[in-house]
Amino acid sequence: MAEYGDCFYCGGKVTEKYLPREIWWEDRLHIIENVPMGVCVQCGEKVLKPNVAKQIDSFLMNKGMPMKTMNVPVYEFEGSAA
Ligand SMILES: [Zn+2]
Repeated sequence: MAEYGDCFYCGGKVTEKYLPREIWWEDRLHIIENVPMGVCVQCGEKVLKPNVAKQIDSFLMNKGMPMKTMNVPVYEFEGSAA
């Protein structure tokens, strides 16, 4: 298990989890599953190790066939914050 240190935002404990990572790349949303990342148990902030981020970058540049493709519905928010 990699060391992530304490949460940058709240100082909480960060534990490693394998979660999907969503990335916009060439105007499309890409999802890479089972990415190791640190997740703060208090605020949920996610921390990516620099070498993991680098691996995701090179993966996207050399990507082959995806495991699966899913359609993502996109809506426009019509309410207001008031
Ligand atoms: Zn936190």
